[in-house]
Amino acid sequence: MTTNLKQPAAPDAAWQAEVRAGVRHVRDLASLPLSAAERAVMQEAAAAHKVRVPKPYLDLIDWSDANDPIRAQVIPSPGELVATEGELDDPIGDHVFSPVPRLTHRHADRVLLFPTYQCAVYCRFCFRKESLTSIGRGYTSEALEPALVYIDGHPEIREVILTGGDPLSLPDKALAEIRARLEAIPHLRLLRIHTRVPVALPSRITSGLVEALQGRLMVTVVTHFNHPRELTAKAEAACRTMRQAGFVLLNQSVLLKGVNDKIEVLEELCRELMYRLGVKPYYLHHGDLARGMAHRRTTIAQGQALVAELRRRLSGICNPAYVIDLPDGGGKVPLTASHVEGRDGETWRIRGQDGKARSYSEVVADC
Ligand SMILES: *Cc1c(COP(=O)(O)O)cnc(C)c1O
Ligand code: SF4
Repeated sequence: MTTNLKQPAAPDAAWQAEVRAGVRHVRDLASLPLSAAERAVMQEAAAAHKVRVPKPYLDLIDWSDANDPIRAQVIPSPGELVATEGELDDPIGDHVFSPVPRLTHRHADRVLLFPTYQCAVYCRFCFRKESLTSIGRGYTSEALEPALVYIDGHPEIREVILTGGDPLSLPDKALAEIRARLEAIPHLRLLRIHTRVPVALPSRITSGLVEALQGRLMVTVVTHFNHPRELTAKAEAACRTMRQAGFVLLNQSVLLKGVNDKIEVLEELCRELMYRLGVKPYYLHHGDLARGMAHRRTTIAQGQALVAELRRRLSGICNPAYVIDLPDGGGKVPLTASHVEGRDGETWRIRGQDGKARSYSEVVADC
């Protein structure tokens, strides 16, 4: 580790220095106050999924708490080495719908594009960790060419979702190049970016980044905040920069046992995301079947109870959709318990927000 934070000489220098000042490799963990159990498994866990924590995120960890929710997201733990039957390498079926390298096309109007398989932070719960380890490559113009040719040849595609890996771990120049190449495809309308950078490395949200992304396409940035302690003043400033640039900001969280599976935590997260950061909670993902994550998964029933209570406590715009991404490319489907209890002809029995059922009789004109 180095604490040599030099003045930025190039547009990307400041945030790159914060990456260098954090944990970049499993050996950098040695100087941290890890538990004996964490120390014992770090090498083996890092072989299955890389270790990387930028300085600002590392600084959020309360080392006096063995169960700290920030620590739980980035420091390898013994639970990761536990093989549980039913877990999968490709839990959401990315590969099933991949016609060319670095692209997944499951829904007609939108594709996932993987400009890099590297991230600024590696999250222990990542559902793509197998790809990040086995593919692991970064961005080159050539590597993306087949995917761009594919998009160009499919006029039904309106939206390109940059994911990975973390697209915002790339330098401005690479992002500007990707944006320009996409902009040249006339049927594209929206550029969406899935990223954990505003959480783990908010200094990366610079005016240079905004400039690299701004252009003809509508830009939506989907952040990935999981815990209210991640909503720092720096993250808030990063989101303000992006909002002022006209980007639409949404958030997806993963429901994680010991991180955000308490109603007070989830409530503060969703409320403050919307009211303070101006980020609309979009999805709350049920834990997928990524390997070594049984210790972080909740049951679906627990998740349903949490989101039902969240709906009672918070405004509609603060509520994410609770979804599961099904194996074999089954897609994202809602898990929220239905309020419909049954129907008798045109009369439906529907449970209200107070838990009491009401009758609703349909009245529609015949014409
Ligand atoms: C999640 C996902 C999308 C985006 O889905 P939305 O519901 O529009 O957010 C698109 N393609 C694939 C393959 C996905 O997994
Ligand atoms: S930033 Fe996203 S892709 Fe990268 S490790 Fe975290 S969850 Fe996975």
